[in-house]
Amino acid sequence: MFDTKYNQEAFADLPGVTFSVIRQMVLGHAKLAKLKVLEDVEQSLTVETQHGLIGIRAGHSTSVSAMVAANNERWLFIMKTAVVEQLRQVMPTVADAMRWSNGPAEGTLPLNFIFVRVISVVPLGSVFLRVMLEGDDLSSYGDDAIHFRLLQPSQDGQPLWPTVAANGSTVWPDGEGALHKPVYTARSINYSTNTLECDVFIHDGGRTSDWAQLVLSDNGSHQIVGLVGPLGGGILNTDKVLMASDETGFPAVARLLENLSPNVKGQLFLEADDGAACEYPFTIPVGIEVVWLARKAHEKLADAVLTAMPHHSDSKIWFAGEREQARRVRDAAKATGHDAKDLRISGFWSANS
Ligand SMILES: Cc1cc2nc3c(=O)[nH]c(=O)nc-3n(C[C@H](O)[C@H](O)[C@H](O)COP(=O)(O)OP(=O)(O)OC[C@H]3O[C@@H](n4cnc5c(N)ncnc54)[C@H](O)[C@@H]3O)c2cc1C
Repeated sequence: MFDTKYNQEAFADLPGVTFSVIRQMVLGHAKLAKLKVLEDVEQSLTVETQHGLIGIRAGHSTSVSAMVAANNERWLFIMKTAVVEQLRQVMPTVADAMRWSNGPAEGTLPLNFIFVRVISVVPLGSVFLRVMLEGDDLSSYGDDAIHFRLLQPSQDGQPLWPTVAANGSTVWPDGEGALHKPVYTARSINYSTNTLECDVFIHDGGRTSDWAQLVLSDNGSHQIVGLVGPLGGGILNTDKVLMASDETGFPAVARLLENLSPNVKGQLFLEADDGAACEYPFTIPVGIEVVWLARKAHEKLADAVLTAMPHHSDSKIWFAGEREQARRVRDAAKATGHDAKDLRISGFWSANS
């Protein structure tokens, strides 16, 4: 074991590839993602990620094997899945042939999957619904990854829940009974009642807001849905920040704001159809200036951020919004020399889907 902090580990031989090819790939990925290389010696490469270790070793029956280590079974499972998915993009046959040394059996529910019950749906401001969900164990949902997939069964057919594939990845069945699985944010978690609240933005054609509205009008609490997670980034640790979001990121912004240091300074741009009239509740730290933008008045989030960016050369930038706007902000931040480790710029939805 490389580091006793990570007391769970797993290995998977990678057939048909050489140690040096995989080493180059892992190092390239580590550089891009700004991950720390802990060890790079003959037959052993170890990189530290936010949730554990990823590495390569000499294989048992092959020249190289993948290694992951984490501090609990769920994170180990999530990291195995991440390795398989990364590899699948460049070496699909190798990814398919991988078999981990331990872990859940093929065909069982993924370890990052839980069933939850809908406890309540209530309106929040004028354009959100707050959904409270109850599960048996939400202990893996902490501050280091605040998002999840909300798995909603379709109206027709028996729901087809995800299962574990032979190579440790997750199989999402298609066809009748396939799930809708958008990403949402855990706005708050109460570990004593095992409940989690998420806030769903109501927008045209939104299957999730339609579902939540139906639950509200039918009093359909006790409905069973699934969660896969946690995923994505966590709370922010910084004294200087430029934040910007449309409604899809409001729950994340609200959670990040309440976890920022009291000394934090910065600016926050919030875009909604009618600006502040959406009445989404935020608790704003004293050092943060808030600017509301109204889409109906053609005020655009990315334009506002690009104008503000020169005043935030040493700030962390957190952005959530439409994918194309996120791309503009990311390109501008990189062009102005912001360090990648200070950027958390994400497309939370796409206007072209
Ligand atoms: C990390 C992450 C966290 C997120 N957290 C939240 C959250 O806490 N609350 C939340 O409400 N959303 C959140 N989102 C956004 C959410 O996943 C998307 O809006 C998703 O498309 C919603 O699914 P749906 O079932 O409502 O719509 P879908 O059925 O997937 O899409 C239907 C149509 O709606 C359009 N659409 C999607 N979002 C919007 C929008 N914002 N405005 C206008 N049209 C839209 C699509 O283009 C599509 O044409 C998050 C996304 C990410 C990546």
